[in-house]
Amino acid sequence: MRIRFLLLLLATFFLCHSARADDLALVGAKIYPSPTDAPIENGSILIHDGRIVSVGPSASVKIPPAAKIIDGKGLIITAGFWNSHIHILSPGLLHAEKLTSEQISSQLEEMLTRWGFTTVFDIASVLENTNLIRRRIESGEVKGPRILTVGEPLWAKDGTPIYIKGFLEANHISIPDVETNAQGVERVRKEIHNGADGIKIFAGSVEQNGVLVMPLDLAKAIVAEAHREGKPVFAHPSNQQGLEVALQSGVDILAHTTPDGGPWSPLLVERLKAAHMALTPTLTLWHFEMKTISAADFEKGMTETILPQLRAYSEAGGQILFGTDVGYMDHFDTSEEFSWMSRAGMNFQQILASLTTNPAERFGDSAHRGRIAKGLEADLVVLSADPALDVTAFSKVRYTIRAGKILYAQK
Ligand SMILES: [Zn+2]
Repeated sequence: MRIRFLLLLLATFFLCHSARADDLALVGAKIYPSPTDAPIENGSILIHDGRIVSVGPSASVKIPPAAKIIDGKGLIITAGFWNSHIHILSPGLLHAEKLTSEQISSQLEEMLTRWGFTTVFDIASVLENTNLIRRRIESGEVKGPRILTVGEPLWAKDGTPIYIKGFLEANHISIPDVETNAQGVERVRKEIHNGADGIKIFAGSVEQNGVLVMPLDLAKAIVAEAHREGKPVFAHPSNQQGLEVALQSGVDILAHTTPDGGPWSPLLVERLKAAHMALTPTLTLWHFEMKTISAADFEKGMTETILPQLRAYSEAGGQILFGTDVGYMDHFDTSEEFSWMSRAGMNFQQILASLTTNPAERFGDSAHRGRIAKGLEADLVVLSADPALDVTAFSKVRYTIRAGKILYAQK
């Protein structure tokens, strides 16, 4: 009897001890709980077991003595960021079976966690490789964000985009064309069966002699099958016809604006909005893609076509998801993207929503992520300057915290 009592005492001691050991408290920071809630000027957050157990004015948050404390004085805290357009395709992430945990962690930090991303949507990669990286992250062996993926993208016959042909060949990656509706349905089933969280189509594929547009009935068959499985569909539009296929087939997210074809008409904006389409602007990408044109032509393209498209959709209340195309593009710094978004008329609240609440809502995760509130996952970004004053401060990341674990700490 006495021994059993002693064992119980010991068990209670260890349980309490281990429960306290992983408490993390962020104390005395300015907290933006969501894009619409008023900031808490001197606020604290207590995290236990990966979740937020308390958030509010510092005087009201009781911090257990054993908690690890981050002094938040002068710092700003928002919910963890989502990047809804990335690729697990960079040389530092491909062929993950040959990479050490340090190599993968350091590439994920350089590309994503260093910029505050706690969740990312990979919208075209090699599914088997991405699954391997996800498993290594979830096992704790690799430090990285939560990764959602579409696996291999779908394009019509002869629709391999011209700008990735060389890359696919050099890396021995083969992604088959989809020639019939039945093949499209089969591919959707296969990707989802193998773990994909969504589907990506090239509604318009850039080829040598212009844009190859996916047949509408094929796009419809693919989208219908993905939706039957409850998964979202992303589309690469390229031009207005590609955009039209995306719209008419029921696609959920446009992976880019459309640099070819001028501003979007009010009617098009209205139809996109009525279809509940989301948009990842990937504005920095155009800078990266248009290196060969003159600075004046680039500025003209941005101010006359690309920024007005984003402005029109954002002003109409269309859903914007932050997305940069990193992994295809090797420019990882996010500050330029925030400047462009601001130039397209998006304010601090709208940009914060594109990074947090909008993607959480779009991908059915609002009950767990996207805001700072009691009971939610402790996915947080700690910034060294206030983005309400200058939106490029969204890129000044001091700490990235995912499920209560520090993924990145600025040195
Ligand atoms: Zn992309």
